Amino acid sequence: MTFTPHGNHLIAGAWVAGDARFQSAPAQGASHSFSKGTSAHVNAACDAAEEAFWDYGYSTREARAAFLNAIADEIEARAEAITEIGTQETGLPEARLNGERGRTTGQLRLFASHILSAAYLDRRHDEALPDRQPLPRPDLRMMQRPIGPVAVFGASNFPLAFSTAGGDTAAALAAGCPVVVKGHDAHPGTGEIIAEAIHAAIQTCGMPKGVFSLVQGDDRIVGQTLVQHPLITAVGFTGSLAGGRALFDLCAQREVPIPFFGELGSVNPMFMLPEAISTRGAELGKGWAGSLAMGAGQFCTNPGIAVVIEGQEADAFVEAARAALSEQGAQVMLTDGIAKAYTSGAAMIGAQAGVQDLLTNMCDQREAKPFLFKVAASDWLGNSALSEEVFGPLGLVVVAKDVDEMDRVARSFSGQLTATLHLDEGDAALARRLLPVLERKAGRVLANGFPTGVEVCDSMVHGGPYPASTNFGATSVGTLSIRRFLRPVCYQNIPTDVLPRDLA
Ligand code: NAP
Repeated sequence: MTFTPHGNHLIAGAWVAGDARFQSAPAQGASHSFSKGTSAHVNAACDAAEEAFWDYGYSTREARAAFLNAIADEIEARAEAITEIGTQETGLPEARLNGERGRTTGQLRLFASHILSAAYLDRRHDEALPDRQPLPRPDLRMMQRPIGPVAVFGASNFPLAFSTAGGDTAAALAAGCPVVVKGHDAHPGTGEIIAEAIHAAIQTCGMPKGVFSLVQGDDRIVGQTLVQHPLITAVGFTGSLAGGRALFDLCAQREVPIPFFGELGSVNPMFMLPEAISTRGAELGKGWAGSLAMGAGQFCTNPGIAVVIEGQEADAFVEAARAALSEQGAQVMLTDGIAKAYTSGAAMIGAQAGVQDLLTNMCDQREAKPFLFKVAASDWLGNSALSEEVFGPLGLVVVAKDVDEMDRVARSFSGQLTATLHLDEGDAALARRLLPVLERKAGRVLANGFPTGVEVCDSMVHGGPYPASTNFGATSVGTLSIRRFLRPVCYQNIPTDVLPRDLA
């Protein structure tokens, strides 16, 4: 079944459009016309979300779980059409879209079961001690409550799992927060069909209309109005450091500042410890190349930097990576802008002092081919440009003289989503030395694996110190991500028959 987008926004249960339009720019297939979002659209969506909160924010966990499962069902019912429009708009292969759809429905269902278990409420009770001396203690109960309407920015690189019904939306809806999504203009048709699925679930479950709105993008005004809207209480964002920082600053400058949960990416360094690299350097090099080039490198957990200690073993690792990357053909990137940023990022890295080209490529328009560079740690340490994320299949090998220099490199990284140790038994002492450094730098520390592929589960942390994210206490993947949209409230001496349902 082919899906032809009508190009309207979904606001408070109605499909609406303004006069201004923009054209989608798909990687293949027909371009479609979409209504350009305006401040008026954002205001209407936020007003409806606030109105919906008075009902949805106090709904039962069972009702919200049924709603989340219904959204997953409605997405599955549109599976083929979602893959078709998704592959056209993003250029991502069919298998990736199918897998990402499974991940998206999986996380909706995971949040449904998570709220049913009630553990996320973190309920606490300190019973009254009326006879305590010198002062009695009142009855004190605590529980996590939803914060109100939440703004979500669809991400360009995950048209399903980090977009319209992605992790941020699922977590906010699970918490009891209505959501206003700013669609990403890289995939507006995919956003529209997912919004249709949510709309259908709203009707089936009898949810308030304003519980979900989608305002299509292509204009900075949508995002800027959204984060500054007085009824918005928090923002979920995945994207660039520049865009995320601009929106974060707007949130901080509001009369009532609000939390901005931005996931801004990182270079995800890997530390190749001596014994591991000497016993299986070539295998590790090949593995790194696979992770680096997967999905044209358009993952926030893409391992862009490998740190080695100089020597023949390191050379074998680097050569294996170079050989594997040189066989990688051109891959279509998500947007023209992202492809352009990749090419200029590669040129910027190649032009830095001390950087040696190991593999360079010409990239056509929206296509990317891998780049591989090498630099001595002494040059890397003095040049912050060399730790900037280049979104795409670009690798940089940082060569340290010895373990002390490797340690200095580890200490010099800014905040990261992930950091990886490749180690064998004989590397344990060095790993014990590096781990305390890496856990200060990254939200997730891995051993003997590659950071691409983020499991959606209870223990996942997809976040990290700035600039990996703007809020180091949070994650944007996994059940813990619900905490971003909750606020603890203490109830003192409130009679049992007056307390909220979940506390009584
Ligand atoms: P982006 O430029 O940060 O845009 C993300 C969203 O934020 C878009 O909806 C964009 O709206 C909006 N936005 C950005 N700056 C804004 C501002 N100053 N005011 C209001 N709204 C603003 O990211 P992108 O378009 O997805 O990709 C661009 C680059 O971001 C990539 O080349 C890559 O470097 C990085 N990126 C990183 C990750 C990651 O996982 N960390 C993921 C994707 C992309 P408009 O589109 O309407 O401008």
